[in-house]
Amino acid sequence: MLSPAVLHRIKAAAHVCVFTGAGMSAESGIPTFRERTEGLWAKHDPLEVATPEAYKKNPQLVWDWHVHLAEKVRKASPNAGHLAVAELQKFVSRVTVITQNVDNLHQEAGNRDVLELHGSLFRLTAFVDEVEASANGLTPAICPLCKGYAVWEHCDHFADRSDLEEIELAAGRVPRCPGCGALLRPDIVWFGEMLNPRVLEGAVDAADSCDVLICVGSSLEVEPAASLPYRALRRGAAVVEINPVPTALSATADASLIGKAGDILPRLLKQVWGIEIRR
Ligand code: NAD
Repeated sequence: MLSPAVLHRIKAAAHVCVFTGAGMSAESGIPTFRERTEGLWAKHDPLEVATPEAYKKNPQLVWDWHVHLAEKVRKASPNAGHLAVAELQKFVSRVTVITQNVDNLHQEAGNRDVLELHGSLFRLTAFVDEVEASANGLTPAICPLCKGYAVWEHCDHFADRSDLEEIELAAGRVPRCPGCGALLRPDIVWFGEMLNPRVLEGAVDAADSCDVLICVGSSLEVEPAASLPYRALRRGAAVVEINPVPTALSATADASLIGKAGDILPRLLKQVWGIEIRR
């Protein structure tokens, strides 16, 4: 599967980055966004459900769609691929997972250093219409509960986060922050939104310092995440891609392993370190 040269580089690596997309969790039963036949996008136009504009227009539709995704995610458990990525920590002194997924499955599998580029379905935050706030000349104040910009004056600055933490992404009416009254939303990055600069900086640092980057289950169509494997490649890190179909990265990667994450990642660990992963 791996050439002796790539195998040697993985074995000798002090820092491995694993960069993952929706395909990583496909075998856990969570649909990817781009697969036309069964992906979530096959039934819903992403622009209707995963943008701030969509939320502003129809918060309940957007909330309900995310509730549907969260129900699938809550039923899912890490697959053999996630377990193999966690197992890497036994053999490599530093393993950084950079994930575009919002499903918490890398953490559930046991990875300690996980950068969630696109946020998490398991946290809520306030929805802030910054355009409207500035048009109305409202001075943004940070709500101590939801950490969003509260444009409401009656926010209790001594409140703690516990009442917010009890609110889940669950069926029903879109909840509001108990502190500032703002509509809540999942703390994930929607189309057209900026990534959390602190998380992005951590991911860039990891891509710039790793010896090996393993790119798993990403179509590499969403920027700025998609550039990270190329950064590592340009710097001379060994880049291994795992995907059932070739992507734009395949031709330049040091190894392009065609297949499913849950099949290939355990085989990679077996080939490099001789260990078996069972689910
Ligand atoms: P994508 O849907 O654009 O691409 C998925 C990729 O995974 C494809 O290249 C596909 O060939 C590959 N794939 C499918 N099954 C696979 C398997 N078993 N093993 C390995 N690869 C497999 O996903 P993306 O590149 O991550 O970008 C879409 C965005 O959607 C991401 O930003 C992500 O935040 C979001 N998303 C997240 C989840 C989740 O958290 N699980 C699910 C859907 C979408």
